[in-house]
Amino acid sequence: MAPIRAEIGKTGGKLFAWDPVNAPMIRHWCEAMGVVNPIYTNAQAAKASVHGAQVAPPAMLQAWILSGLQKNNYPEGSTKDNPYKVLQMLEDQGLPAVVAVNTELDFKRYLRMDERLYYTSTITDISEEKATGLGVGYFVTQMQTYYSVNEAGGADECVGSMMFRLFKFKPTHAPKPIEEAKGGASAVPKIGRSTPGISPDTQFWWDGVNQGKLMIQRCKSCQTLRHPPGPACPECQSFEWDEVQSKGQGHIYSFVVMHYPEVPPFDHPNPIGLIELDEGTRLVGQLLGLKPNEYQIGQRVQVEFNTFNDGTLTLPQWRVVA
Ligand code: ZN
Repeated sequence: MAPIRAEIGKTGGKLFAWDPVNAPMIRHWCEAMGVVNPIYTNAQAAKASVHGAQVAPPAMLQAWILSGLQKNNYPEGSTKDNPYKVLQMLEDQGLPAVVAVNTELDFKRYLRMDERLYYTSTITDISEEKATGLGVGYFVTQMQTYYSVNEAGGADECVGSMMFRLFKFKPTHAPKPIEEAKGGASAVPKIGRSTPGISPDTQFWWDGVNQGKLMIQRCKSCQTLRHPPGPACPECQSFEWDEVQSKGQGHIYSFVVMHYPEVPPFDHPNPIGLIELDEGTRLVGQLLGLKPNEYQIGQRVQVEFNTFNDGTLTLPQWRVVA
């Protein structure tokens, strides 16, 4: 823990907000949060208020500096240091799980339109090792301090801060393998996979799967491929269709790794991919071949047909290929 504890008290570089304080983001945030105070969304009402102009909701503070959908993706001029480095270091020590504990926000003043913000991050505390009902680990306290850029060139102004505390731990309850049911009176009933509901529209697809073929429905009128199968073409409304066999190759368009709840009969963590076939249609299936944390969007995959439920159910699954 010594190198990790050495991070306590260090303050990282500036991480800038993507956008200056602006009315559209405020309006979206107020809509999402159900905030109706007109000083945030109505310039005229705001002008007549004690503020004299439109202001941002104080509780929106963190929203201004979120990195977006890509992790640690901040605008130019921001530090390249990872503000969550300590959490990564703890992960490397075998503490993969995280749970948010508590947070405290402190607002110095209201923010006005066009202010440019950044924040710096400091690890203020790492607890002794603690054993909890969830597992053994460390409480990590981080302080984010928010500043408004002084465009005139003077000192930047601190406008607020956020303390947040996480528990980084090794879970007590590791995923349990599903016990194989054994014969005899004491046998635990084995939970199988849900069986598909097969309709006249989807019969051809399951017939294909049972023969180790991945079929795609095709409109006879306009040739558009579609999945999942359905009675009519969404492009031209034609009811005429046939099918083509996919090469069974594509890439991970998106994916999730399901950790909880641990639903039998699946092993967990359970990686599930949205696969885009080279033919263009997409379908969902389990991912194979890598550790749960190694899957990435864009990886090439190859279909593989595997049987379940004592050989009564065949499903296409997706193996990552080099
Ligand atoms: Zn069509």
